[in-house]
Amino acid sequence: MTLNQSYPVTGNQQGVLYVIAAPSGAGKTSLVAALLQRVSNICVSVSHTTRAARPAEVNGVNYHFVSIATFEAMLTNAVFFEHAKVYDNYYGTSKQTVVEKLQQGIDVILEIDWQGAQSVRALMPDSVSIFILPPSRQILEQRLRARGQDTETVITRRMQAAVAEMSHYSAFDYVVINDQFEQALQDLQAIVQTQRLTRARQQVKYAQLLTELLA
Ligand code: GDP
Ligand code: ADP
Ligand code: 5GP
Repeated sequence: MTLNQSYPVTGNQQGVLYVIAAPSGAGKTSLVAALLQRVSNICVSVSHTTRAARPAEVNGVNYHFVSIATFEAMLTNAVFFEHAKVYDNYYGTSKQTVVEKLQQGIDVILEIDWQGAQSVRALMPDSVSIFILPPSRQILEQRLRARGQDTETVITRRMQAAVAEMSHYSAFDYVVINDQFEQALQDLQAIVQTQRLTRARQQVKYAQLLTELLA
């Protein structure tokens, strides 16, 4: 694509904070990874967790895997923007990267559970929340199994928690059904694009153009 923009872009503004939640296996990690390939100026926050790494996970990439003692020390030192206990493990988003990226004008995605989403909503009312649903419970279970990363006990535990997690969808701004992956990805892309086109953001981005047009 040729960039042929002759009009001025002005005004630096904060990035948008996105909160994405879903029951385990709904596809949020795969969708977010694909979204980052398609959209520029957006990143995902790498959480800290006390759960053990899955075979395919890489420390510092998927998560910062830490011990309970480390996590507790981080809690004491107020490192976290939000944290929650999910499926018997602790998960938390550290403040530093989120704040830095947003200040640099980069959008940040948090892949967190509904409790974390609730905390973030209270801390940052301007954040945009998205809930991802599977097309059926049966398919959710199939995806958890097909991922081939969790033990049978873990899968059973997560399926038991899925309905409770999904019941929180109503507190979210957007809902995406992940049936056909490509369609769900396009839906996510549309949500991001929509935030970038709001009058409030366009007014800052194109302040100079608007001044010239309205002079
Ligand atoms: P997955 O959902 O199958 O990928 O399983 P994970 O073990 O990676 O995540 C389990 C749950 O913890 C999911 O609901 C995640 O959204 C949530 N989670 C991950 N990171 C964070 C975090 O930093 N804070 C909170 N509150 N929840 C998190
Ligand atoms: P989550 O992060 O929500 O736990 P994942 O992104 O790990 O979910 O997805 C769970 C599994 O389902 C993965 O093996 C992934 O490749 C697969 N998956 C995700 N979306 C779809 C889809 N639309 N159709 C079929 N399989 C999918
Ligand atoms: P893993 O191989 O699962 O990534 O991690 C092995 C051990 O290293 C775990 O006990 C975990 O507590 C510790 N560890 C992994 N990543 C970090 C990290 O980023 N910080 C600290 N402090 N410990 C870590």
